[in-house]
Amino acid sequence: MKCPLCNNDKYFITDKFQFEELKTLWQKRHKFDPFSNQNFSGDLVKIKCVNCDIIYFSPAFFGEKDFYEKISDNQSYYGSNKWEFDVAIDTISEYKPKSLLEIGCGDGCFLEKVVIAIDHCEGIDINLSAVEKAKKKGLNVSASSLKAIKQKFDMIVSFEVFEHIENIADFFNDTLHLVEKDGILLIAVPNPNGYLKEMDANLLDLPPHHNLSYSKKTFDFIADKYKLKILEYKQEPLRYIHYNGYLNSLVDSDRRLYGNSITNSILAKFRKIVFRLFSILTFVQDRKNIIGQTHLVAFQKM
Ligand SMILES: [Zn+2]
Repeated sequence: MKCPLCNNDKYFITDKFQFEELKTLWQKRHKFDPFSNQNFSGDLVKIKCVNCDIIYFSPAFFGEKDFYEKISDNQSYYGSNKWEFDVAIDTISEYKPKSLLEIGCGDGCFLEKVVIAIDHCEGIDINLSAVEKAKKKGLNVSASSLKAIKQKFDMIVSFEVFEHIENIADFFNDTLHLVEKDGILLIAVPNPNGYLKEMDANLLDLPPHHNLSYSKKTFDFIADKYKLKILEYKQEPLRYIHYNGYLNSLVDSDRRLYGNSITNSILAKFRKIVFRLFSILTFVQDRKNIIGQTHLVAFQKM
């Protein structure tokens, strides 16, 4: 097995998940089983490349269009106010690009914030129903592939997309081909060192949803490999809503450790109530020590 980013064949095995357990959890939480047409058995193995530090999985399994259509129906999948949108807007006001492409624009939540500010704004997404919604907002959005785009852009942005991509080395090449010299590629992805690493079996952080995970070390490797300069690197501060989820998951993992007796269930409920009562106070202190969900890098093409 070789690393999808640097082709190295040396890796660490960092975690394992049983397919049977994952299938049950998907049914329970999302009412469908994304592995139903696959012949997977045994374990899904989480791997970290020794060379570039990227995290990937074996067997590889990537969600297709219908997977994203299902999952984006099930929840508020495309949030309209994200930390990374604000950081990108700051970057835009500093560098003033005349053209911008968003890869994986969903229903256009980000594009509609910046479309008036930039001469030419365009978006692409594989999710056809999201593309239709974006078009209804009057945005220049299509389902075209990177290879089909002929124009170059001063800035390309992509939020929570690069962790889903198959053939990532080609994808970086194709993306950077569309960036003008001195132009910017800004990507936001989940932070593998964020608080989520403390929470177990987060289904959406595994295939077929997330297939790759990038650390700061991986961003440095990418800058080196593709001759880019890192203009900025930022980590999302912990958000209060995520903090509450984090506290609940701590109670649950404790409960798994000590069993599901009635006493333990009552105790867990009680602890959740106490946590909720005091979390507004402890948050102020804890957010200094707990890293949030997302991190962002802006590369400049040399
Ligand atoms: Zn690698």
